[in-house]
Amino acid sequence: MKIVKSVSEMADLCAGERSSGRIMGFVPTMGYLHAGHMSLVRASVSECGLTAVSVFVNPTQFSPGEDLKKYPRNLERDISLLEKEKVDLVFIPEERQMYPDGYSTFVDVDGSLTERLCGASRPRHFRGVATVVTKLLNIVEPTISYFGQKDLQQALVIRRMVSDLNMKTIIKVMPTVREPDGLAMSSRNSYLSASGRMRASLIFKALDKAREIAESGQRNSGVILKEARDVLFSQEGVVVDYLEVVNWSDLSVLEYVEDKAYLMAAVFVDGTRLIDNIEITAKAGGNKNDKTGI
Ligand code: AMP
Repeated sequence: MKIVKSVSEMADLCAGERSSGRIMGFVPTMGYLHAGHMSLVRASVSECGLTAVSVFVNPTQFSPGEDLKKYPRNLERDISLLEKEKVDLVFIPEERQMYPDGYSTFVDVDGSLTERLCGASRPRHFRGVATVVTKLLNIVEPTISYFGQKDLQQALVIRRMVSDLNMKTIIKVMPTVREPDGLAMSSRNSYLSASGRMRASLIFKALDKAREIAESGQRNSGVILKEARDVLFSQEGVVVDYLEVVNWSDLSVLEYVEDKAYLMAAVFVDGTRLIDNIEITAKAGGNKNDKTGI
């Protein structure tokens, strides 16, 4: 496994590998790797002739006052995990390599896809994400790029951007990997105290309850959301940033669950902001108006 810190060296190595005709898979991450990241890495290793992983805590996707400085980091552990999976290239650029003095170019994906949900709470977040992903895709030029469904809005923003800007990579979105109690794996889970960690599991319980209600025939989003809220509010120290039933393709709000929808959640647990989502599929002919739930 080769560890690369320089942008130009990474670009040259990737260009060389491309010319050998191998399918190149790429997994962009911010490090502090967990089983969620590793599922993307494994998918790439099994599907591609060569796998590149980037580890870069991207400052432009954090707003002032967010957790950029304290974002968890453990490069040594990340490298040893990636080595075990037989990753070929690990790209760990310094901030000044990615954003040298005078850096002035940003990629903005306009519209409701970036303005709503996480975009509403973190106004410049997706601009930072789109910018760094564009830069990484330009450096690596992978055949396939792997993203996680845990950050569904991010994956859809990247898909839109790749399509709009005629980028050549294929975007694959892999399922969310969860802890045994359902909590979506996240580097930010490390911020939680033992009691916060227990309460954080309510996020998945709330989503799963909503899914169960929808599958038993309830299609009214208001009723579904109330059930999810009741689960979340059964404990103190849990504050909902957003909880919405949305259309799977453009994340527009749905008053009634159509055949495929997502329940999207962002929740603060003792000040740590965690996001998750679940696919909810309405039973054919389900009830649009029932206010009583199941
Ligand atoms: P991050 O390091 O948090 O920026 O995440 C890097 C990639 O891993 C993104 O595409 C995330 O969506 C994905 N990812 C993070 N957590 C999970 C998870 N629990 N399951 C699957 N993918 C994940």
